[in-house]
Amino acid sequence: MDTQSSRGSGTRLDALSRRQLMQIGGSLGLAATLGACAENTGSSSAPAAPPTSTIPGPAPLPVAAGPSLPAPMSGEQPMVQICRQAWGAAPARPGGRPHTITRMTLHHSAVVLGENRLAPSRLRQHQRYHQNDHGWIDIAYHVGVDRNGNIYELRTPDLAGDTATNYDPAGHFLVLCEGDFDQEPVTDAQLTGAATAFAWAAQQFHLASGTLGGHRDFADTSCPGANLYAHLTSGDLHTRIDALLAGGPVDLQRLCGEEAATKVAEIEAGQ
Ligand SMILES: [Zn+2]
Repeated sequence: MDTQSSRGSGTRLDALSRRQLMQIGGSLGLAATLGACAENTGSSSAPAAPPTSTIPGPAPLPVAAGPSLPAPMSGEQPMVQICRQAWGAAPARPGGRPHTITRMTLHHSAVVLGENRLAPSRLRQHQRYHQNDHGWIDIAYHVGVDRNGNIYELRTPDLAGDTATNYDPAGHFLVLCEGDFDQEPVTDAQLTGAATAFAWAAQQFHLASGTLGGHRDFADTSCPGANLYAHLTSGDLHTRIDALLAGGPVDLQRLCGEEAATKVAEIEAGQ
């Protein structure tokens, strides 16, 4: 999504600049109404109807690779994805398109994150916006990553994502980096988190790191923002993914229950 005004999807918001909205919105959550990468141009903002046709494709791929494996990255704790319940996700709505993942795509939320403690609430806001305003079954992306590199379970990868832009996300594994990277720098921790999510997906779905692209490679959008996209064009993210894969199996266990709730509470407390 671009940084400037009039690219948002709400017509009543078009008169205000994005920065004004950020200031006005604040904790009211108005900013989250812009929390989806959007087209750069054109006024086609009508949310696509949730796809209803289902393709009798192959059975969903197995989620876990059997018995637990030793920690893949020597000297580092095993990576986890914070499960939906822990960050307060609403249940997914019925429907969605089963798909076979063939590539990986990077997005940003196009909303300045500010403080990382806001990340879980932003995810809740994005999900509400996607479900209530766009009419999608769930938050549009499969995995989220905050500035500190925490990884969040979003939409099940068994189902294709959604977009308000002019490409078909079926077949794409979608990673959302929280923030507006046309305005904010990218932290090393967030890059590590994104690379870990992609390395896990590459392993799960038998993809080469070369299938990784940015949203702007497929649609008319500035997503994932210049500062983040630079790590794609430089090859940095691909290199990070390949290094993780070369290090052995990449485990991305779901962190649920009390432990996950504690983790989210720590994040929201700014720890
Ligand atoms: Zn995007």
